[in-house]
Amino acid sequence: MSDLVESGDVLSVSEFKRLVFSRMSEATFQQQVINLARDLGWFVYHTHDSRRSEPGFPDLVIVGYGRVLFCELKTARGKLSTERGLTRSGRQMPSQVDWLRRLREATPEVYVLRPSDSDLIPDLLSPSETAARWAAMTTLAQQAAMELGLVPAVEGS
Ligand SMILES: [Mg+2]
Repeated sequence: MSDLVESGDVLSVSEFKRLVFSRMSEATFQQQVINLARDLGWFVYHTHDSRRSEPGFPDLVIVGYGRVLFCELKTARGKLSTERGLTRSGRQMPSQVDWLRRLREATPEVYVLRPSDSDLIPDLLSPSETAARWAAMTTLAQQAAMELGLVPAVEGS
C-alpha cells in the first residue's frame, strides 16, 4: 500500500481500515472469519478443494447457538456470480446467487441417509407438500434423532 501513502501523510483509523479492507484477499478475509467463528465456539465448514465440488455453494457454513449461517465471502470489489455452469451431461448448475436465494428461503432439515432409506428418499425430496412427504420427513427425522441419541431407539427396530 506504499504507493497510496505518500511519506508524511497521516491516515485516520477509518481511512487506514478502508485501505486495508480494499486490498484484503478473499483467502485472508476468510481465514479471519473462520478463526473468529471458531474462537467464539462455532463449528465452521469450508470446502477446501472446490474444483471437484458443486460450483456456487457458499464458502462457509457456520453452525452453533441454534443457528446455521451460509456465508459467501468476497473481496471489497468481488461480485456475486450469476454464472450457471454445466455438468458433463449438460445439466445447468445453480450460480452463487441461485444458491444464496434458495438458502435464504430454506429451513434446514438434518437427516442421516442410508441405502436402506432409498424408498423414502423420493418422497423426502418431493417438491410438493404431500402426505407421503410428511411421512418420509417424520420417519427420517426420527431415525436421525435416534442416531444422534436424542430419543431412545424403538424396541425391536
Ligand atoms: Mg467467495
